[in-house]
Amino acid sequence: MDQLQEIKTLGLTKQRQAVLQVIRESENHLTANEVFEDARRILPGISFATVYNSLHYLKNENLIGEVTFGNDASRYDRNLMRHDHAMCNVCGKLVDLELQIPDGMLNEAAERSRFKPESIEITLRGLCPACTG
Ligand SMILES: [Zn+2]
Ligand SMILES: [Zn+2]
Repeated sequence: MDQLQEIKTLGLTKQRQAVLQVIRESENHLTANEVFEDARRILPGISFATVYNSLHYLKNENLIGEVTFGNDASRYDRNLMRHDHAMCNVCGKLVDLELQIPDGMLNEAAERSRFKPESIEITLRGLCPACTG
């Protein structure tokens, strides 16, 4: 955790801290519902609305990441570095991938789409090890 993040974390309410703790301690990319289930173990009285609002707040403060695929529920990510994902077509497991995006790929994609580029992500879809066996 860098210094700026540490300073931001100090001012968090205990509800927001609980939500942040859940995401930082999880190896998975949790949905809001899953974060709610785990946050209740830390703070039994916490409501779903509070969890949801906390996720929104933490994301805006760049303390957590958010990944969305199509119409699926958003998932929350403790990994704040630019990274890619692999997603299982059978069980939905989502894992981080460190891929080196070739220089020029963003610009090529921008040229073809005529979009002003900000970022590019690659998602590998296939079968996870558990579903292959
Ligand atoms: Zn799977
Ligand atoms: Zn991720």
